[in-house]
Amino acid sequence: MTASLIDGKAIAQAIDEKVGQAAAQIAKVIDRKPGLAVVLIGEDPASQVYVRNKVRRATAAGMASTEIRKPADITQEDAISLVRRLNEDPTVDGILVQMPLPGHIDAGAVINTIDPDKDVDGLTAISAGRLLGGEPGLRPCTPAGCVLLAEQAMGDLTGKNVLVIGRSILVGKPAALLFLEKNCTVTIAHSRTKDLPGLCRQADILVAAVGRPEMIPGDWIKPGACVLDVGINRVEAPEKGEDKTRLVGDVAFDSAAAKAGWITPVPGGIGPMTIAMLLRNTISAAAARNGLTQTALP
Ligand code: NDP
Repeated sequence: MTASLIDGKAIAQAIDEKVGQAAAQIAKVIDRKPGLAVVLIGEDPASQVYVRNKVRRATAAGMASTEIRKPADITQEDAISLVRRLNEDPTVDGILVQMPLPGHIDAGAVINTIDPDKDVDGLTAISAGRLLGGEPGLRPCTPAGCVLLAEQAMGDLTGKNVLVIGRSILVGKPAALLFLEKNCTVTIAHSRTKDLPGLCRQADILVAAVGRPEMIPGDWIKPGACVLDVGINRVEAPEKGEDKTRLVGDVAFDSAAAKAGWITPVPGGIGPMTIAMLLRNTISAAAARNGLTQTALP
């Protein structure tokens, strides 16, 4: 391996600590802890793990973090009423509704009910519009984590060629806009893109957000590039025993690490950064909602 490993876990931990300091400062001024409400609808096992981790890390960083669980058969009206109540609750600075929602609920309608100033996942249409318009606002967590890791690795990103593979509203599109904000030259690839290997070979920064295990081999990587692997894929791992599985990214790690300058592992790369950015957004929201400056923020 020639690439430097980007240790997302350690970087996220350092951010959590700074968030903790900022939370303590804010708490002194507003006389309560910054509040994060995490809504979990249904019983999806992966969502339960994600929500537990978010609540645990927010609590550890000194926030008042509450998990609100609702059954999978909740009506859309009741889900929207719940979000409205949280919008009006002055002790709640950030609201996150864990995706995916049960099929009978219009996820867009629920998300877009969130007060944009409490939208710590950065997924409402207003937050997306603010990002597109270059206005201040809460940015989607996973793409914000990608940019921060790229800056930590490479410093100033001005003029870098970025290839984002994937065009979802959750990762690909906002990642492209955030790198554009950093004066990068951005290309977005997707399932209909022609000559993906050729585009990869020109990318100084490659963001892989596809959801296909190890689809990007090392010989597509530009020598010295920064590889940010967002993909989380569970695959069979017979070497660990019968019925065992392991997590892999969208990038074939070993061969890519032999070519790249920097690379994120899966797990332990982008994943931990997503929660760190959620906590950072919650602090930003708490500060902004209470008219405080954000100089202490990480
Ligand atoms: P989506 O399924 O919404 O989007 C996947 C994108 O990949 C689509 O734009 C699709 O193109 C594109 N794509 C599919 N096949 C190919 C291909 N052969 N070549 C090029 N592009 C292709 O996924 P998400 O954006 O929600 O998530 C992507 C991955 O990131 C998943 O593995 C997910 O688990 C992971 N993830 C990780 C997070 C973290 O915290 N680390 C957070 C969020 C997601 P098209 O639009 O044409 O269909």
